[in-house]
Amino acid sequence: MSQSGDLYQELILDHQKSPRNYGDLPNANRRAEGHNPLCGDNLTLAVQLNPEGIIEDLRFKGSGCAISRASASLMTQALKGRTVAQAEALFTLFHDLVSGRVPSDSQDEALGKLKVFAGVHDYPSRVKCASLAWHTMKAALDEKGPKEISTEGGD
Ligand code: ZN
Repeated sequence: MSQSGDLYQELILDHQKSPRNYGDLPNANRRAEGHNPLCGDNLTLAVQLNPEGIIEDLRFKGSGCAISRASASLMTQALKGRTVAQAEALFTLFHDLVSGRVPSDSQDEALGKLKVFAGVHDYPSRVKCASLAWHTMKAALDEKGPKEISTEGGD
């Protein structure tokens, strides 16, 4: 039990200190903003979706608590290269995890490192922090309407 607690602490602190995929994404064709007023977390997510519906790249920016930042950081790692359908399936799985509907000893490999957020279930006020990035991602992917994708080639 304390073992998974340590892992949880370490991984979250690591991603909070040096978030992955942090910054702007000039080629993004999907964007969404998320807010968690309960904690004061703000998040902007930029997604580069290719015509085949694959998430080629995604970045996040924002200010918030350690859990919201770590969750956004780990999410961007988990979703790069995935299809929209896979991203939405992972959203559901993550939501079940932080809601306590996935056993903490689940061997579901799809979750990977995201399993550290199973501990969030014990802190109901933190569930929204952990899921903010995922709700923002879903909002970005659900965005309807044609979008111009400018490609400048190379680089
Ligand atoms: Zn928070």
